[in-house]
Amino acid sequence: MSLKVYNTLTKQKEEFVPASTHQVRMYVCGPTTYNYIHLGNARALVVFDTIRRYLMYKGYRVCYVQNFTDIDDKIIARAQEEQEEPLDLAERYIKEYFRDADALRVLRANVHPRATEHIGEMIEMVRGLLEKGVAYEAGGDIYFSVRRFPGYGKLSGRTLEEMLAGARVEVDRRKRDPLDFVLWKAAKPGEPAWDSPWGKGRPGWHLECSVMSVKYLGFGFDIHGGGSDLIFPHHENEIAQAEAFKGEEPFARYWIHNGFVTVNDEKMSKSLGNFFIVRDLLQEWPPEVLRFFLLSTHYRSPLDYTLENLAAARKSYTRLRNTLELLEEVTGSQEAVPAGRLSREAAAFRDQVLARVAEFEDAMDDDFNTALALAALFNLGREVNGFINREDFKTTPAIRHTLVRVRRYFKSLLDVLGLVPGESRELRMDYAQALREIAVSLKESGAAQLPEPLPEAPQVLLDALLKVRQEARAQKNYRLSDRIRDSLKKIGIILEDTPRGVRWRLV
Ligand SMILES: [Zn+2]
Repeated sequence: MSLKVYNTLTKQKEEFVPASTHQVRMYVCGPTTYNYIHLGNARALVVFDTIRRYLMYKGYRVCYVQNFTDIDDKIIARAQEEQEEPLDLAERYIKEYFRDADALRVLRANVHPRATEHIGEMIEMVRGLLEKGVAYEAGGDIYFSVRRFPGYGKLSGRTLEEMLAGARVEVDRRKRDPLDFVLWKAAKPGEPAWDSPWGKGRPGWHLECSVMSVKYLGFGFDIHGGGSDLIFPHHENEIAQAEAFKGEEPFARYWIHNGFVTVNDEKMSKSLGNFFIVRDLLQEWPPEVLRFFLLSTHYRSPLDYTLENLAAARKSYTRLRNTLELLEEVTGSQEAVPAGRLSREAAAFRDQVLARVAEFEDAMDDDFNTALALAALFNLGREVNGFINREDFKTTPAIRHTLVRVRRYFKSLLDVLGLVPGESRELRMDYAQALREIAVSLKESGAAQLPEPLPEAPQVLLDALLKVRQEARAQKNYRLSDRIRDSLKKIGIILEDTPRGVRWRLV
């Protein structure tokens, strides 16, 4: 089946055909960096990351660009509150962004352009728009003249009359028409400002995406993505600027938008106090579980955040992880060589698995239906469990070879969704301090011998603690072994004693 994508521009599902055969050029609007990212940002990040991963799985080379809006009214206001330079504040939150996005397994973009690094190019576009007569100056500000661009409204499907009715009543008197939007803002005292032919100022928000997407991907690139709240006015304005400037269309060929996150069926918003930032959620939920939850609903539908939904995501994700662990257990770490003939049952099992892989691909080909793709993975897991848990199950070389292939399929499908477990088993440096405190308290109370000095790396320190606990268990000193287990649990590291030794995972 070929890949079908719902295009906001044409309001229908279309076959996806990139402009060049093997390459997809993709631009996604990134965050305004004045705060930690929230759950709504995370949904867009994970949705477009998954789309990118699936395109890569299909063999495309994907050139992925995601911007940072690092100058904006919100950044300036927040910087004033925090008594910080706006550009320093933006820089700080770009670093924080990468911490959260990396945790959520969002692959880094090929380019992460920043608005403040492209001021010269933005000035060029404003100059061009003025020359073409689709923009005008008023008191040091430059506005885009919406009625001079005939295609305005084609993305959102709104007529000018509807947009007028929706336009805010407080009309900026410098605008000739309430529909017009700002391209360049004259500087106010104390704000960051850049020189321009119209005096000191800074770019309007919409301008940066028209400029940076075309700079890195070329005009007429394949996919433009973002949250559905960006369709109007942000993306409508991006199209107007880029197409009026170039005198051609389309600026971008497929427009993809993800739906809202709701909280207990209400819109998530700061004013309602039901606003969740990813950093807080990651304290309580493993990143894979959060990512599973974000992909559990089709990307265009609203996604409802409730504790029950997250708990259900955790349970479901554990099932997928168990299937992979089972496959790893029976296949071992060596590569298997093809050997001997498959029994009828084993051949039927292999065919069932291939059918599930096709089911997964069909789901993703149908406008990236991750909910159905996950269902295909559960079906695949059921086949695996059924086959391995049969009473007469034996690992002949031929069967082992088949299972190694199945393991590879299963893992590569999990990877499309960014859900391969284990990557987050890497202990981040932020665990170092908490582990140290546990070790110091054990040492000071004389309860255990630990290396001196204590290892710096959290992973090595955890191994040392686990060794002490194993020794305590061997000596039936359960007070000590339980104390270590409970202290680790308090900082989010869960131990599981299995026949193959102790396993740990992050909550
Ligand atoms: Zn944008």
